[in-house]
This record gives sequence, C-alpha cells and structure tokens, in this order.
Amino acid sequence: MLDANHNLFNIRADDVLIDLLTDSGTSALSARQWAGIMEGDEAYAGSKSFYRFEQTVREITGLGHVIPTHQGRAAEKILFTIAGGEGKIVPNNTHFDTTRANIEMSGAEAVDLPVPEGVLPSSEGDFKGNIDLEALENLFRQKDQQNIPLGMLTVTNNANGGQPVSMENIRKMSELCHAHGIPLFLDACRFAENAYFIKLREPGYGDRSTREIAQEMFSYVDGCTMSAKKDGLVNIGGFLAVNDDDLAQKARNILVVTEGFPTYGGLAGHDLEAIAQGLEEVLEESYLKYRIRSVAYVGEKLSQLGVPIFRPPGGNAIYLDAKAFLHHIPPREYPGHALACELYLHGGIRSCEIGSVMFGKTDPLSGAFQPAKLELVRLAIPRRVYTQSHMDYVVECVGEVFDKRDTLKGMRIVSEPPVLRHFTARFEPL
Ligand SMILES: *Cc1c(COP(=O)(O)O)cnc(C)c1O
Repeated sequence: MLDANHNLFNIRADDVLIDLLTDSGTSALSARQWAGIMEGDEAYAGSKSFYRFEQTVREITGLGHVIPTHQGRAAEKILFTIAGGEGKIVPNNTHFDTTRANIEMSGAEAVDLPVPEGVLPSSEGDFKGNIDLEALENLFRQKDQQNIPLGMLTVTNNANGGQPVSMENIRKMSELCHAHGIPLFLDACRFAENAYFIKLREPGYGDRSTREIAQEMFSYVDGCTMSAKKDGLVNIGGFLAVNDDDLAQKARNILVVTEGFPTYGGLAGHDLEAIAQGLEEVLEESYLKYRIRSVAYVGEKLSQLGVPIFRPPGGNAIYLDAKAFLHHIPPREYPGHALACELYLHGGIRSCEIGSVMFGKTDPLSGAFQPAKLELVRLAIPRRVYTQSHMDYVVECVGEVFDKRDTLKGMRIVSEPPVLRHFTARFEPL
C-alpha cells in the first residue's frame, strides 16, 4: 500500500484477490464472442465486421449514424469538442466522471440534476436514477437555450448508486428538451440493465421483451454515447450514435484525426465483431435475470449484517454508504477512500471510492474543500466472472471490517493532478 501511495489504482492486479474496482472492460467473453473474434475482418475500410456492428447498433438504438470509438470517453470527447465550449451548460441526471471531465475540459459546465430521493442512500425507490424534471425546467427557463447544446441522461445512473431511470422519466425529459429545441442524448453504458429494471418495476412493461424496452428507450433520444466495456460485454470499445447528419459529419472529421477511419474508429475488426455479439447477448433475459439477481443477493446479505448500503441494490454494483459506515470520519478526510483501502488490506478486495476523492474539489489557492454529495464505495461486479461463493467471501470481509469500523482512520491527499484526480492522486493515512 505504501508503494502504491495508498491509491488502489496503483495496485498490481496480481496482488488483488477479488477485483471489484470496476465492471468496465472486465467481463468474460462468451464462446460466441471468441468465435466472432476469429472471424473478424481486418480491412482498413468497409470491413464486414463494421457493417455487422453498425447494423446491430442501429437495430437496438434506431439511430442512423454509428461511429465506433475505442471507448466511451472517446465518444464523449468528440461530442463535446463539437457541442461544448465556454459558456455552455450540459444537464444530466448525474454526470459520470469522464463525462464531466470532457465537458469541463471543453470549457462548458456540467450540471447534475438528480431527483431529491436519488441522493438519499437509505431511501427505497424504484427509479432513484431519474432526473429532476422540475429542476431541469427551471434551468431551461433561467438560461439562454442557445447555451444548452444538449441534455443527457445516464442509464443506469452509475455515479448515483447504479440506480435505474424510468421510461416515463426518459419520455418526459425528451418532451421537455424537444419543446425547447434541445436534443437529448443517452449515456447508454448500461442500457440493458436499465431496460430490465423497467421490465421488473414499471407498470405496463412486464410482458415486453428487454429488447423492445431498450428500443423504446432509444426512440426518445437524438443520440447516445456508449462504453461497450459495460453492456457491450467486451474488454474495449465504444461508440457515438446520432441522427443528425451535420453532427455526424463533424464527428467523423474529428474521428479520423483522433481515433481512426470511420469504419473502425480506434478498434480492430475483431473488436467490432465482439461488440456486435455482446450487444445481442446482453439483452438475453436469462442473462439479465441472473445479473440483476446476483447483485441484489450481495445487497441483501450486507443489509442483513446491518452494513449501510445505497438502497435499493443497483444494476452493476453495490455501493457502501461510507458516510454512515464511518460516521466518525468527516468528508474532508475521505471516509470512502479509507474504507476502500481497509477492504483491500483486510481481504484483498479492490473497490472504488465514489465520493469526495472522485467528485470533491480542493481549491489549489485557498485550500477550501468542497465535498461530494455522497461518500460511496462501489463494489462493482464484473459480468460473467465471479460465482456466489466469491460473493459470500466479499460479504464476510465487509462484515468483518464493519465490526471494527471504529478503529479506521481518515486519509489525506499528498498530491493530485488537475483532472480526474482519483486515478493518480497520492494519499497518506492520518
Ligand atoms: C464507463 C463510463 C463512461 C466512460 O466510458 P469508458 O469506456 O470508460 O471511457 C461514461 N459514462 C458512464 C456512465 C460510464 O459508466
């Protein structure tokens, strides 16, 4: 830990027993995906694999222009190079870290408008990932529409407990945005998990297939950014998909300079095959049923031990509520980071702080500290990797750390980079 400067991103994976750092790019590929990889067409331009990928994305999203990128943030970078800039404002239910960073790097402002119950870890609710439509309407009223290039909705809401967004919320946001002439984009990383929650929880969707539900979700939007490392069930890849011809043209112009030719965009032909196959498999209901149920299992076991978690269990992860877990450690001493470090030291489990290290700010001049809304530790569960007995071990370890919680101490940041500090900051225990 000393060598790693108390930053779990610096730990060698070989030194981790159960790796719950992220569910991004950590899925196991299926036999059919490997078979697709063998068949990948590596033509520079117009490969067969690209057309299979393009057709699959079009069938699910209904969006006309499909632009492959090496991962989700590359799609964000291209989108906000075009749509961002000084004075612009981009609202979202909750921006993910890379989305926020790409918007802010363009000079624009990223605004989070989660529903009020969405930021209360202990409240129950079917769709705590929803955007606050009233707050959005106020924003549209107060600001010049010219300065709002697009609205965004992250499904599921990864930075907010992995909570789903309802179809009603997507539809109403779409109506509101379009009434103001503002396009709506989905941050679609976990669209299939979100679709399955709609099927389980939203009246009228129980008998619809998750594919149909996903198609309806996309029918309300003008574009999406996607990290295929999540619900694409692959280790690398992403895309930007849009309907607007002019925007697509501008995006492809940037793509050629920064990613690659428009029919591969920073990926190998075999990667495009694996994504196309993954997008089919991720909508299979037997897969989704197992996925959502196995995450809920971990949540139930932890709740039975009295461990405070973000309720109810989300789609991709269980989020420990570090503020309640370690209420003797104030946000400025990073309780989430302290807990994540202890889980590693105690049980070799790697998790990820999603709190004031990731989203808090320290003014470099005055030293003034602005905490994040929530102090969470995400136990992200890779897809198709761990078994129930692995998860039983995790539950046991978290329970043991919970029992000795009073002995844990806070952390301080020794040095940090200007953006996305959680990846490379150096820490010291207090
Ligand atoms: C992972 C993620 C991204 C960024 O995708 P990368 O492939 O990691 O670049 C954007 N938004 C959300 C919600 C994510 O979970």
